[in-house]
Amino acid sequence: MKVVKRFLFLISCIVYMVNKTFAGCAMFEIPLQKTIQHSNYIFTAHLLKRECFERNDKIFTKNYFLVEQKLFGKIVSDTLFLISDGGEINNKATFVYPNLEFNSSNKYLIFAKDMQSKEFKLASGLQGCMTFIENDSVAYFFGIYSFENQLIQQINFLKNTKIKIESSNKFTSLPLASQIVSFSPTEITAGTNSILTINGNNFGNSKSNSRVLFKNANDGGVTFIEPLITDYISWSNTKIMVKVPSNAGSGIFKVETNSATFNSAPLAISWSRTNYIKDNKTFLPVLIDNSATGGYFFSIVGKLKTDTSFYNRTTEALLNWRCNTGINFTLNSSTSLENESTISFAQNGELNEGVLGICYSNFSSCNGNDWYLKNMEIKILDTSIWNSSLNLPGNNQFDYSSVITHELGHGTQLSHVISISDVMNFSISKGQTKRILSQENINGTTTIINKSIEGINCSQKVHRTINAESCDNVFFTYFSIDKSRIFPNPAKDKLIMEIFLDNNYDLEWNIFDASGKLIERFFPEQKQAGLINFTLDLDSKKYLPGIYFLQLKAGNNLIKKKFIVTN
Ligand SMILES: [Zn+2]
Repeated sequence: MKVVKRFLFLISCIVYMVNKTFAGCAMFEIPLQKTIQHSNYIFTAHLLKRECFERNDKIFTKNYFLVEQKLFGKIVSDTLFLISDGGEINNKATFVYPNLEFNSSNKYLIFAKDMQSKEFKLASGLQGCMTFIENDSVAYFFGIYSFENQLIQQINFLKNTKIKIESSNKFTSLPLASQIVSFSPTEITAGTNSILTINGNNFGNSKSNSRVLFKNANDGGVTFIEPLITDYISWSNTKIMVKVPSNAGSGIFKVETNSATFNSAPLAISWSRTNYIKDNKTFLPVLIDNSATGGYFFSIVGKLKTDTSFYNRTTEALLNWRCNTGINFTLNSSTSLENESTISFAQNGELNEGVLGICYSNFSSCNGNDWYLKNMEIKILDTSIWNSSLNLPGNNQFDYSSVITHELGHGTQLSHVISISDVMNFSISKGQTKRILSQENINGTTTIINKSIEGINCSQKVHRTINAESCDNVFFTYFSIDKSRIFPNPAKDKLIMEIFLDNNYDLEWNIFDASGKLIERFFPEQKQAGLINFTLDLDSKKYLPGIYFLQLKAGNNLIKKKFIVTN
């Protein structure tokens, strides 16, 4: 029963949410030796309760633990707490994921580096908290450590102690049966309401406490996840129908009853969609037009913008998703805009150890049922071990192109899959590249886009895809200055304006004289992309001979053209 429930909401705080943040990350493994060396306290504990609080507009969770066994370091209290990102409070919610997803039914082995009063901080970030599983071992993100062969020996050697870890008595081995006869389909997608039908024997006549368990794509399948109760369509002694939950990954799945565990043959999960879960209900947030240009505006910020190679790799990754899926991700070349998405290096200490990048997706809803992606925030580890060139990374380098492509994949609302070579695998190793989108990645995002285009009941503008012809221009351009002209110049009675708009946009124009005085104004009007013709009558009362400026405005973009009026 290698089961770790990773559903934060099972023990959620009070929920009255209007928006939610969802994050994924690219992780790398931290060796056990380093975790032990960096920890000043080692203990086992279980979760008592969680409390959410808000600080500087961000939501955090205080996780209270009851210490069971004090293994190393001077631990003065039996109740300790750890602050983790995200949570839900009043009318706001932040869901950071993968995260420390504690469950009150689990027992944890904790490696802490700091302890101040009753608050502790983990050694090795998320990887400093391990979950007890059967056979006297613990699971962490990248695998399993057995007590006897690895953990105890290494702790005792490195810390010069003689500890013994008490095993968890909650694991009773169930006989492994093999009565899953077949299942269909054999290849499926996760978090899309797709239904898996499992045929076999002795499943029991009703679900009761029995369950289906899928490999957890957030740790490469080291642990298993369970669908929501509402995901079960039907359950009989010979047939189970269940929706495959978001974050389920390829590999075997299990049917676990009171008397036996049934393992399946491997199930292929080609892609997984990010879901938002509230009160045991699953919602599928859609993409909208949040930029008034069809989708989402991104700003590359700070050092990521000023460093040419990081900047170029970032724009290439945006192009990769745009041109392969049509997703409307556009770089904003002008001043920062409200609700735009950002890509930047993380501040020191902002990311957990072992995390290369993270993507927060902020969701909103107008009615609690229709959820949409408001914007994204991508943070990248500021480290010297990046390969930011187009060359292959060295054996000691992480490939920036691969990681930014992964984070943008979360932005398109894909979640993790289990496939080491796939861009959307939860982890990446040094020297590895994953820059190319697979057909599964493309299918996933285009399916999400197509669903989004159906629209939602919130009065949000519908997402519009990028044309294949203009996909390789990552900047949103309002005007083609080369293709726009005013003539004749100098002009006498009339001035003809030919303005070439690269995109549909509200166009506005103003005419000023040489002193900057506004002479004439044309209020914003929605114009289709393409050539717009306009003839301006040079009324002799308004337009005395002299120099004038035509100012064209679309969004934050301005162009100015000079013309002369003669007698
Ligand atoms: Zn990720």
